[in-house]
Amino acid sequence: MSRDVIVIGCGSAALAAAVTAAEGGAKVTLLERAPKSERGGNSRYTEAWMRMKSEDAVSDDFVEFMLSRGHGAIGPEMLREVSRDYENWPANLKAYPFTDPEIVAALAENAPAAMAWLKTHGIRFTFHSPMLLQKGAERMGPSGGGLAIVESLATSAEKLGVEMLYETTGRSLLLDDPGDVRGVRCWSKARGNFALEAANVVVASGGYQGNLEMMTRYVGQGAHFTRPVSPGGVYNKGEGIEMMLAVGAAPAGQYDMFHGEPVDPRSPRHEALVAVINYGVLVNVLGKRFIDEGANRYEFIYDEVSWTIMRQKLGTAWLVFDKRLFDIPNIRTRIKTDEPPLRADSIAALARQIGAPEAALADTLRGYNAATREGAYDTTQLDGLSTMGLPIPKSNWARPIDETDLFAYPIMCANTFTCGGVKITGDAEVVNRDGAPIPGLYAAGETVGLYYTLYTGATSVMRGLVLGRQAAKKICQGLGR
Ligand SMILES: Cc1cc2nc3c(=O)[nH]c(=O)nc-3n(C[C@H](O)[C@H](O)[C@H](O)COP(=O)(O)OP(=O)(O)OC[C@H]3O[C@@H](n4cnc5c(N)ncnc54)[C@H](O)[C@@H]3O)c2cc1C
Repeated sequence: MSRDVIVIGCGSAALAAAVTAAEGGAKVTLLERAPKSERGGNSRYTEAWMRMKSEDAVSDDFVEFMLSRGHGAIGPEMLREVSRDYENWPANLKAYPFTDPEIVAALAENAPAAMAWLKTHGIRFTFHSPMLLQKGAERMGPSGGGLAIVESLATSAEKLGVEMLYETTGRSLLLDDPGDVRGVRCWSKARGNFALEAANVVVASGGYQGNLEMMTRYVGQGAHFTRPVSPGGVYNKGEGIEMMLAVGAAPAGQYDMFHGEPVDPRSPRHEALVAVINYGVLVNVLGKRFIDEGANRYEFIYDEVSWTIMRQKLGTAWLVFDKRLFDIPNIRTRIKTDEPPLRADSIAALARQIGAPEAALADTLRGYNAATREGAYDTTQLDGLSTMGLPIPKSNWARPIDETDLFAYPIMCANTFTCGGVKITGDAEVVNRDGAPIPGLYAAGETVGLYYTLYTGATSVMRGLVLGRQAAKKICQGLGR
């Protein structure tokens, strides 16, 4: 069969590319490592909140957040060049790993059209304050979450005649003699190794959160103490990124960073969050505190708290609190684990249950209680109710914990997605290390390196949808369709 495009992956980014390309008249083959019943990677499990204030515009803070977190170590002389037209950027800038304003602008400009297009595939939107946000910033999301996006777009892809190859893994790019992209080398249980040819390949196979070797290589210490936050992430083993780097793609995105979340390791649920870390104290298995749990509102600190837990002994911490936590309005909506907290009527009993040294735990909890002070406790804002004199302070929401009625959740660091990927243009063309597009090669979604320092929440699904469509539109343009 002759085909125009191979899309690797079946999440929101891949499906946006496959369906848009098929609508544009291209012949498309899609490769999905997972069985059909589990298709969709992370996109299948996400609530898919998007940083949009309406169907017609991204949130007012979108560009500011993306750019302010993204410059890394780029030098001022190179940054000055950014104000030129993209065509006139020096090659090294086009290949430079930073949050490229070209890409951020492409996301902001094309997101409304992507939303309108999703509606033509039956998606409806809802506005809501996600439970993670302590202050009312609204986000837009699809009714039915990412699962609705995956199932409606996959159904559309089938109707449009996209060849859907399930349980088929893309392993490397097929190249011709000079080294141009000509297709994908694949593997499936049924066929073993085989090659598929196409002049265009869209790599939308997610990050490397499901690959411990890559996680250890890039993230380093403690990587084996984290796991993908959803069963979909387990399929994302990084081949897509590796195959693009192998043909000279410019790396981009912070390779040693991933979007981390604090979850209950006992729970079989995906994203079994314990998103109440602001309101207790965190101790490691040595019975010691290690971070300021009240440094800022949850959405600003949970990544760093999660990474720090990953680097504690055994990659585990315990959130210790008393029953007053359950009096905080709507607090149960922030706890998604289905496992109950441990409960103990003394520090000694809690120490036995969590396996921490009793003396150390007693020192920590009594030292913390002694450092708290009178003041108004207010979970609706940074209340300034801080500890006094502790080497590791708790800067807000520090009230004493009743040592005769203790609760504790175990917490581990879950990996939502990884941030290392490749550099692209605003049309999702993969850029080589000399700043030029690699003919026929496109990337969308988690395979694109975009985030540095801290992930800007509610932008990853939007990134995939927009860039998947950008890639498809560029391919169809090249095909003259
Ligand atoms: C629980 C949860 C909540 C989240 N909440 C939000 C949110 O509210 N807002 C937001 O913007 N983001 C959120 N995210 C992140 C977001 O969902 C993902 O980053 C995004 O959906 C990724 O889309 P993708 O298409 O790039 O990758 P995925 O959806 O992960 O798709 C990757 C696809 O590639 C396939 N694949 C992998 N390797 C291969 C291979 N070698 N060959 C063939 N196929 C392969 C996988 O099976 C999968 O189908 C959340 C994620 C999770 C898990």
